[in-house]
Amino acid sequence: MSQMKWWGWGDEEVAFTHEDKPELGPFIERAIDVRADHLASRPVGFDELDVREPVLAPDLRAALEAAVGAAHVSTDALDRVVHARGKSLRDLVRHRTGDLGRLPDVVVRPGAEPELQAIMRAAIDADAVLIPFGGGTNISGSLEAPADEDRTIVSVDMARMDRVLEIDDASRIARIQAGAFGPALEEQLNARGWTIGHFPDSFTHSTLGGWIATRSSGMQSDKYGDVADLTRAVRVVTPAGTLATRPVPTTSTGPSVREMVLGSEGRLGIISEATVHVHRLPERRIILGYLLPDWGRALQAMRAIAESDAAPSVTRVSDGPETRFSFATRKAPTPLDRLKSKGLTAFLERKSSFGDLEQMCLAFVGYEGSKAHVATQRKLVGKIVSAHGGVCIGSSPGELYDQKKFDTPYIRDFLLDRGALADVSETSAPWGVLPVLYDNVMAAARGAFSDLGVRGYVMCHLSHSYHAGACLYFTFAFAPGPVGEGIDQYDRVKGAIQQAFIDSGATLSHHHAVGTEHARWLEEDISAPGVAMLRALFDGMDPGANLNPGKIVGPAARPVAADGD
Ligand SMILES: Cc1cc2nc3c(=O)[nH]c(=O)nc-3n(C[C@H](O)[C@H](O)[C@H](O)COP(=O)(O)OP(=O)(O)OC[C@H]3O[C@@H](n4cnc5c(N)ncnc54)[C@H](O)[C@@H]3O)c2cc1C
Repeated sequence: MSQMKWWGWGDEEVAFTHEDKPELGPFIERAIDVRADHLASRPVGFDELDVREPVLAPDLRAALEAAVGAAHVSTDALDRVVHARGKSLRDLVRHRTGDLGRLPDVVVRPGAEPELQAIMRAAIDADAVLIPFGGGTNISGSLEAPADEDRTIVSVDMARMDRVLEIDDASRIARIQAGAFGPALEEQLNARGWTIGHFPDSFTHSTLGGWIATRSSGMQSDKYGDVADLTRAVRVVTPAGTLATRPVPTTSTGPSVREMVLGSEGRLGIISEATVHVHRLPERRIILGYLLPDWGRALQAMRAIAESDAAPSVTRVSDGPETRFSFATRKAPTPLDRLKSKGLTAFLERKSSFGDLEQMCLAFVGYEGSKAHVATQRKLVGKIVSAHGGVCIGSSPGELYDQKKFDTPYIRDFLLDRGALADVSETSAPWGVLPVLYDNVMAAARGAFSDLGVRGYVMCHLSHSYHAGACLYFTFAFAPGPVGEGIDQYDRVKGAIQQAFIDSGATLSHHHAVGTEHARWLEEDISAPGVAMLRALFDGMDPGANLNPGKIVGPAARPVAADGD
């Protein structure tokens, strides 16, 4: 896997462009007052960065080299810059301007679990800090070392540990090394007729270990489960030895140790491998597009689908603003496309359920399985959608969405180049809370834009339906006004949205973890004793605060050396 851009998302040679999407430029100008053809800023050059010298004692270097081999111990400047942070908006803004924060001093790349154990011993003996690094795609500040950290920081890049070790066909589980990136992992499974079914939008650049450590969720998690559901067992190298749980379907061995590792963000140790559910590659897979008249009926339809026997693999519906954005990102239409689109508009205008087409909501529902199963699923969903006033618009929009979902992440860099800030906040809540949660968040975001005196845009989609509720995923964008730093203005908007989640009874994040970005809402989400429990867990497993300190529950108290030590 090649390294990502040090200042942005994805591969060096790939970038988002508006030039092949005729409606996008005017849309952006109307929505956030930014011109798509006007470059307002670019990242500083790598040569202009002030990369401070690494601090790495000869004994620690020797121990790390003995652990993984000298070729896999790097103090290279680019390596250290890439491993310093994830890809949150704050990370991108600061990296682009050359504000690098506290860089890791060294990057080590273990190739097997015994090497990880040797790294752990060396780091603890030297009182160094260890930060596991998967793909570096988290957006919650889960990787950055505290600014005032004075110990040596070792970034442990897991990319060499990328193999599917074993597939147990009878049990439908596979043992996989934690550093496997989505494409490599899926390729090895597919070669034997299996899939993990976990496809986050960051799939191309994120790893199994990172998914587990952040409790990730993929596009098809309605069918395959979130990573927390599909992870059966873990092996974790900790300061107290190697923790191993058994890949049993379920167990009553007290509070779940496996669950404690899920979402632990490197604070309990380094996950070396996991045993996960795998599924036979489906005979048929299709994503259909639907249009629903408005957000209220769209939510009701998704709830009815979740309650039905349809059990689709994807349920996703955009609100009116996000539907308008999606239509604006269409590539130049062919004459036939134009004809079809005119026909559809005329049809919707005649259909009594569609009053105001501006309120229309675009939905995608995915089906997987045997041909007969898919046919039954489609029929059930079709009936529900039409009972809520909606129509099916076929498979082409779904195919397009499926193809472009891994390109969309590049849009944040495109907007930053044009002086605009764009980011996401996502949550989950019971079905009964979703309508009011949505209204509260939209009001909070628009209130924040208005306080800042900027023209902002906020939009939402529902993804990931469950028995009891669903995930709402909000995207917002604006060009900062002249008063104060852009990043402070961003904090006002993001903070207002996050606070609306908490005040509405929702969670601080459905699948983006806590890191440092969301830590301030944790106590309101899980209560003070909940936070105390997590703190005790981290302090107990990591008494020297060597493991990714400061994430999830804030800085742990460092042990004070006894007099005379
Ligand atoms: C454009 C974009 C789209 C995204 N889409 C999604 C999405 O659809 N669904 C979703 O869930 N998330 C999404 N994310 C967030 C991110 O991709 C996930 O949080 C992902 O799980 C992080 O994996 P990673 O391998 O990149 O981990 P990293 O970012 O490298 O690390 C994340 C955290 O996990 C820890 N960690 C990593 N590996 C290990 C290990 N082996 N042992 C112990 N700790 C470890 C790190 O120390 C850190 O605390 C997206 C992010 C971006 C930028």
